[in-house]
Formats: sequence, structure tokens, C-alpha cells
Amino acid sequence: MVFLIYMPLPRRETDPIKYFGAPTSKVQILTDSEYNRLLDRAFSKMPKLAAETVDFIIPKADSFIQGNETIVKNIKEIADRARRKPTEISRYLSKELSVPVNAQEQRLVISGKFSADDINKRVQRFFEIYIICKECHKPDTHFESAGRGMLQIVCEACGARYGVKNY
Ligand SMILES: [Zn+2]
Repeated sequence: MVFLIYMPLPRRETDPIKYFGAPTSKVQILTDSEYNRLLDRAFSKMPKLAAETVDFIIPKADSFIQGNETIVKNIKEIADRARRKPTEISRYLSKELSVPVNAQEQRLVISGKFSADDINKRVQRFFEIYIICKECHKPDTHFESAGRGMLQIVCEACGARYGVKNY
């Protein structure tokens, strides 16, 4: 085990050996940059803070069938978690379910009858492909258009950029 104890050389002292005594096998004198490098290494080996390792939980759609339509009640909440517009999610669901989907203020109105499971599978896939960074698994991403049917996903947490097929 190595302990790093920071004892700066007092001002006006120029010779660390004269001040601290000669280094031994147990006590070594490091320059500032050596000390910083060891400190960085020590931090990199420490367990990550709990908040960073908690997996992002993909929100679940809360839906019900009304007549020939399926209503998703909490699209605003899902969109907020994804940091996307409700219309960006409704466009995906419309394509995946092959029916018109209308994004209203808080709700999504899907033409046709779909079970909560039908919808949640798509919501989950949307998050996996388009929201959660494939490098660091954080949801802090945004889209940049990359043209030719491609979307670029840019991760604000780790800086990763990669292309996915537009939907
Ligand atoms: Zn990332």
C-alpha cells in the first residue's frame, strides 16, 4: 500500500533533501508532477461514485385503449427523460407500429389497439438505440443530423459520436 502525503516545501526552501532529509525506501520525495500523476492513478482505481454507476431506468409508457385508439398518458414524462420532443418519439412509434401517431400536449394518440407491452417494447428499443450512449451507457445524448438517412448521436457525458440509421 502506498500513502501519498502532501507536504509542500516551505517557501524560500529550495532543496527538499536538505529540508525533509534524504529519501529512504519508505519515504520518497516527488516533484509536483509526479505527485499529481500518482494521485490521478489512485483516483482512477477508486470505485466510481454510486450515483454514476446506477443504471438509467428506461421509463415505461402508461397506456390504455379507448375505442380504436391507444392513448399513452405520460408521453411528456417519457420525452423529458429522453430529453427529446414528444414528436421525436411519436415519429418512431408511428414507423414501428405502422400506424399514425399523434403527439398532443401530455398524451400520445395511437391509431389502433396496442397492449402496454407492444408499446413498451418499442419505447425500450428507442431508448436503447437513440438515447443511451453505446459507449458510456448514459442517457445524456442529443441528435445531430448526419444526412443521407443517418442520425448522429452525440454523447454529452463522454463525447462519443456515432451514426445510427434515421427512423
Ligand atoms: Zn457516452
